[in-house]
Amino acid sequence: MLISMDIKPFHLPKLAQERPIVIAGPCSAETEEQTLQTARTLAANGVQIFRAGIWKPRTKPGGFEGIGVKGLPWLKRVKEETGMYVATEVATEKHVYEALKYGVDVLWLGARTTANPFAVQEIADALRGTDIPLLIKNPINPDLELWIGAIERIYNAGIHCLAAVHRGFSSYDKKIYRNQPQWHIPIELHRRYPQLTLFCDPSHIGGRRNLIASIAQQAMDLQYDGLLIESHCTPEKAWSDSEQQVTPDALKDILSNLVLRDMKQSTDDLVDLRREIDVLDNELLSILSKRMRISEQIGSFKKEHNIAVLQTGRYNEILDKRIADGENMGMSGEFMRTVLEAIHEESVRVQMDVMNRK
Ligand code: PEP
Ligand code: MN
Repeated sequence: MLISMDIKPFHLPKLAQERPIVIAGPCSAETEEQTLQTARTLAANGVQIFRAGIWKPRTKPGGFEGIGVKGLPWLKRVKEETGMYVATEVATEKHVYEALKYGVDVLWLGARTTANPFAVQEIADALRGTDIPLLIKNPINPDLELWIGAIERIYNAGIHCLAAVHRGFSSYDKKIYRNQPQWHIPIELHRRYPQLTLFCDPSHIGGRRNLIASIAQQAMDLQYDGLLIESHCTPEKAWSDSEQQVTPDALKDILSNLVLRDMKQSTDDLVDLRREIDVLDNELLSILSKRMRISEQIGSFKKEHNIAVLQTGRYNEILDKRIADGENMGMSGEFMRTVLEAIHEESVRVQMDVMNRK
């Protein structure tokens, strides 16, 4: 059920409200010097909101888990010296109290926290009575309802200046992206809550710095409001997420090369629907190409073990089952047969190709 929320646009008093709103800074605050040096260059390059992780949720123990409370005075110094707003991640009630005590301006919920309703509720309760802007990253798993649930919990605690951050979804397949973008999920979120400010975090989606520019451009083409990008004065020496951070100067280049297309018709329903079609077609192509790669592997396996390409029994079984599944999903059986036969034919061709290769 869609609960109605009177969400306010992401806003800070001194922010020049240009699109994109940029939040940049290192994955983690490591030392006072690294924090200040990065912040000074970012500020000189026009960034108005500085991010730095103080508490870091790491996959395995033993790594750098964030500098902790000791880093909060560094953020205070960044504010005083550069005039930038500062933002950090909170994952527990204690983080919220500490961050507020040191005057952090913007807080965010990380992907692992959004996936945990108990943690979100604990943070929501700790925030009650404040009006600090809060960013909510998507959960690590591609579950739109869980994302919305976190937004509702925070909203119900009286925090109405909210924004969503799309940072991609964890997947076993990390060939291109560290986290699969699955653009249709944030787009559906935006369709349901058009007033919710939407940021893209191309650093955590890409996982590699050379992917950031193209992901950020895609986000602009999809009408996102802002970008959250990791930037470090010496990325190759970073204590966390080293491969995906860019220097403040590289960030400046990325931002100045973004093309902001004329979106006069963006409120037009047809434009919105076409955009959804573009995204879905993109996914369809990527799924088809993955499927063909698997056919190739099957071809090699069959060649090695001397198995025939076509096993009619299996094919008929699959075809009947898929047609029935497709019909259950509201598509015509005839259409399903045409599509599946075309895919199968190409799969067989790919397998034959592999088997007959010298
Ligand atoms: C981060 O922003 O550094 C971070 C840990 O992000 P996420 O929660 O998206 O993994
Ligand atoms: Mn990071």
